[in-house]
Amino acid sequence: AFLTTDILTKLTRPDMPNNMENNVNIPKIAWKTGTSYGRRDAWSIGYNSKYTVGVWVGNFSGEGVPELSGAEMATPLLFKIFNTLQYKTTEQWFSATDDLDFRYICSESGQIPNAECKHQVIDYYLPKKSPNKRCEHYKYTYTNAEESLSFCTRCLPENGYKKKKYKHVDQELVSYYDLHNITYVKRPKHNPGCERVFKENAPTIIFPEKNTEYVLFKQEKQKIILKSTASNDVDNVYWFVNNKFLGKFKKGKDTFFRPEKEGEYKISCSDDKGRNSKLKIKVRFI
Ligand SMILES: [Zn+2]
Ligand SMILES: [Zn+2]
Repeated sequence: AFLTTDILTKLTRPDMPNNMENNVNIPKIAWKTGTSYGRRDAWSIGYNSKYTVGVWVGNFSGEGVPELSGAEMATPLLFKIFNTLQYKTTEQWFSATDDLDFRYICSESGQIPNAECKHQVIDYYLPKKSPNKRCEHYKYTYTNAEESLSFCTRCLPENGYKKKKYKHVDQELVSYYDLHNITYVKRPKHNPGCERVFKENAPTIIFPEKNTEYVLFKQEKQKIILKSTASNDVDNVYWFVNNKFLGKFKKGKDTFFRPEKEGEYKISCSDDKGRNSKLKIKVRFI
């Protein structure tokens, strides 16, 4: 709880209101915002050791408003309420528990640094509980002389290859970088002649989550969002619901489907190289 509070108290964060006037005092609170799909609800919920306050902004009819956002609309109200409740708080802030300790981590991955990790910072951790995976944000890869293809041990040629260090970027981060035109050194495409290519690097379905039950309001004809990422050599992905073709979409573009009845749904996503990922979900109406 202390760690969560510590994170939610930080002022450098993506959901800080943009249009805040400079003279607004930010109360010492932990808070978190939320904005629902279609911008129907703007939430901001905050607490200190004495009060918990929740702010909701929206239309009672449920109609969405483009400007509605938890950070921009609900948080300024939340700050005002806390400043009115107790402008200068004398309450004790939460204290760290005894089992909390400090360690160095790699600032790029949050994991235990290895020799390659140049930027290290000190952070809290829970001994024996926090993950203790070593950072792998640099990985050695075999490439051809031109560094245009990469090889695995199975397809490595006898000569003419070299070993090069590449930054490992998670699939989800890859699509974020591509979407925002952030450049990074990409690992070259894997040797297309490799027998492993067709088994690996299938699209990753980010949403929905496998083996999860989704509860939908039947009246509102709610839809489920379909999100996936695919590897560098892919342009388009194809979605299927219960083996029925839903459509072809540009890589990284989200789509939706509306379940018409309750029960199990098989969701699958293929890329233009024929690789495929699938999962099952359950839908229940209320
Ligand atoms: Zn690292
Ligand atoms: Zn290979």
